[in-house]
Amino acid sequence: ATPTAVMVATGVGANNGVLIKGGDALERAQKVKYVIFDKTGTLTQGKATVTTVKVFTGMDRGEFLKLVASAEASSEHPLAKAIVQYARHFHFFDDPSVTNDAPNNNKETTISEWLFDVSEFSALPGRGIQCFIDGKLILVLYPQQVGNRKLMTESGIDIPTHVENFLVELEESAKTGILVAYEGNLIGVLGVADPLKREAAIVIEGLRKMGVIPVMVTGDNWRTAQAVAKEVGIPDVRAEVMPAGKADVIRSFQKDGSTVAMVGDGINDSPALAAADIGMAIGAGTDIAIEAADYVLMRNNLEDVITAIDLSRKTFSRIR
Ligand code: ADP
Ligand code: MG
Repeated sequence: ATPTAVMVATGVGANNGVLIKGGDALERAQKVKYVIFDKTGTLTQGKATVTTVKVFTGMDRGEFLKLVASAEASSEHPLAKAIVQYARHFHFFDDPSVTNDAPNNNKETTISEWLFDVSEFSALPGRGIQCFIDGKLILVLYPQQVGNRKLMTESGIDIPTHVENFLVELEESAKTGILVAYEGNLIGVLGVADPLKREAAIVIEGLRKMGVIPVMVTGDNWRTAQAVAKEVGIPDVRAEVMPAGKADVIRSFQKDGSTVAMVGDGINDSPALAAADIGMAIGAGTDIAIEAADYVLMRNNLEDVITAIDLSRKTFSRIR
């Protein structure tokens, strides 16, 4: 292709909200064999909502939500945001015993007044979070963990059979189950749903027709991952991948010399976006992902993965 053709193609891309960082990236996309999709926020809308709250102890529902939201308030994770949002709603609107004296405005600030103080918060990537809830007496700190099975196992917290069964039920319906432990005991589970983007299945089908193989990679558990993958039509799934492992997945597909594209939105996708031959970041994603990528899909529409490959094929195929 002539420099002019590349310039024209880059312009066509930009007009469609596909930002291409350079002619090399534009050229590589024509050869793509695998497109590896992150699940959360890429194939799914990234708008998680709490669908299930199950408390296993005698604890009051509102109190349970207050505990979990206090811990998650310091987390940037989409799951955390969904939980805090739900707890806020429950506290300010749904529970008659507390709505009466709650102010009607400025809920963003009043939520932090309502929550417990936490100390020693730590985010454990791919697993969840851990912190201490401050007791009213000085020096009394109650440990709390919120996350997946791996986190509970690492923290020495037992998952009883009835809890495991409940988790399996959630996961088989494509929901993510979040375990909550307080003072060393499992006290409840939250179910969170994140619907697929509307165009996701059509795009997967379209890629396959173009001879491109779609793959899904996620930090989420196997059962939820497989349920989502089945819904969208991707047979090849890699689940329970720790953030650092996503780049290894890319490299494993590159081993035989195949050209690999990665589509992602999160901080934990950026090593994989950089490792891929073509990194494509969702425009609504984090800045770090956008920086690591060769393409930015500004419209947040997965159809633009196809647009990008098409554009490259049309620009370069005729010349050879
Ligand atoms: P993804 O690949 O879907 O972006 P992550 O690596 O961010 O996944 O997270 C993997 C899993 O770790 C989540 O599905 C969840 O079970 C758990 N997890 C991570 N952060 C949190 C959190 N703040 N609260 C609860 N669970 C979390
Ligand atoms: Mg993501």
